[in-house]
Amino acid sequence: MKLTRRSLLSGAGGAALSPAILKAAPLGSKSHIAVIGAGVFGAWTAHHLQQLGHRVTLLDAHGPAHSRASSGGESRMTRAAYGKDDIYTRMSTDSLPQWKALSGASGLPIFVPHGVLFFFPTDEPYAHDSIAAHRRLGLPSQLLTPAEMARRFPMIDFAGIRMGLFEPGFGALMARRSVQTLVRQFVRSGGDYRHEAAHGPRQSGGKLRSIRLSSGSLEADAFVFALGPWLPKIFPDVVGGRIQPTRQEVFFFAPPAGDRRFLPGAMPGWADFNGGDIYYGFPDLESRGVKFAHDAHGAAVDPDAQDRRHSEAALADVVAFRDRRFPLLRNAPLTEARVCQYENSSNGDFLIDLHPRLSNVLLVGGGSGHGFKHGPEVGRYAAARLFDRVPAEPRFSLATKAETHKREVH
Ligand SMILES: Cc1cc2nc3c(=O)[nH]c(=O)nc-3n(C[C@H](O)[C@H](O)[C@H](O)COP(=O)(O)OP(=O)(O)OC[C@H]3O[C@@H](n4cnc5c(N)ncnc54)[C@H](O)[C@@H]3O)c2cc1C
Repeated sequence: MKLTRRSLLSGAGGAALSPAILKAAPLGSKSHIAVIGAGVFGAWTAHHLQQLGHRVTLLDAHGPAHSRASSGGESRMTRAAYGKDDIYTRMSTDSLPQWKALSGASGLPIFVPHGVLFFFPTDEPYAHDSIAAHRRLGLPSQLLTPAEMARRFPMIDFAGIRMGLFEPGFGALMARRSVQTLVRQFVRSGGDYRHEAAHGPRQSGGKLRSIRLSSGSLEADAFVFALGPWLPKIFPDVVGGRIQPTRQEVFFFAPPAGDRRFLPGAMPGWADFNGGDIYYGFPDLESRGVKFAHDAHGAAVDPDAQDRRHSEAALADVVAFRDRRFPLLRNAPLTEARVCQYENSSNGDFLIDLHPRLSNVLLVGGGSGHGFKHGPEVGRYAAARLFDRVPAEPRFSLATKAETHKREVH
């Protein structure tokens, strides 16, 4: 199925805001929708529901893109390289103009177009599949030789690298800022945002009428639960082990004084494909430091309980990689470390599907370490899916989510 703005919006509702809760309104007319979770997925879903003319209440227990949310922290990469998984190539490409529009409306940058470079030690089908998909979409991506990369990106040592894929039109999204800006825009446009914790539904079948909150209850015509790594905690029976949060650590290092090679534009966002065991990072965005992370899944964690102090083992792993690939940063001081979590589905595909027994409840999650960039199109699809206005994409269904985890989407 082709996920385009046109297909997602076909037949969607009008633009007028409903002045009151329509308790028994059939979905499809102006309805009151509760979106629980103001991470990147919930915030964009609330935005698109609002654009369709619905009355939307958005809730978060800790605040939009708070420091323990998967959407918290500073930066996320946006790219269209997805190998053979061109469903995600299309989604990130269709999301980019929406990020740019949000960036344009904000006082501070949200999208930083410094380009993205993936490099590979072998002649990698992932790169060829990606470039073929990009050609079909008219994206100006380039396959580069090691010599070309060494000339253009002298801050990286390309020893042992066979080829590169450079996407000039992509770059970094400022994570927390973008979600908080979007929620502010949602409120300015008449949306209701509340700092509230929601309890899981007590009801097990039919239509959900209300949920209990930290202060009282909330009635709505439909409910979207976009709870990121908390989704299995609120829906242990339905989601449970189908989404597994894992510990992920990211590190920032100070570049050499006055060295312009690590600034965005001179340096791209990058990923060393490394046979599938990916390391990735960013230039010195907003002088925060040069960011490095190992993309491998860490230990399974509880997002409420995991220790947010970095581990010496993860730091040593990233420093060893950094010293090999970025020799100019040897001995660069650590300026910051953050501990987050991925919320992995079994293979990396998102979960955007109706609850199997509550027909007006949509479950949204499974960003799996790559979801942020797709926030705008996830929100658009989720809003359309709730109203049955778009064919269900099998890859986003609950039925395709296994409890055995084997990552396939990179
Ligand atoms: C270190 C790291 C690096 C990443 N890098 C990239 C990248 O480069 N590119 C990319 O595209 N993606 C990346 N990702 C993935 C992406 O950031 C996530 O997939 C995405 O942010 C998930 O968003 P979400 O809205 O599903 O979850 P969250 O942001 O976690 O939002 C869920 C929200 O639900 C709220 N909530 C939970 N329970 C309740 C309740 N009972 N009541 C009310 N509210 C509740 C929480 O407080 C939270 O705010 C990365 C993730 C991490 C952790």
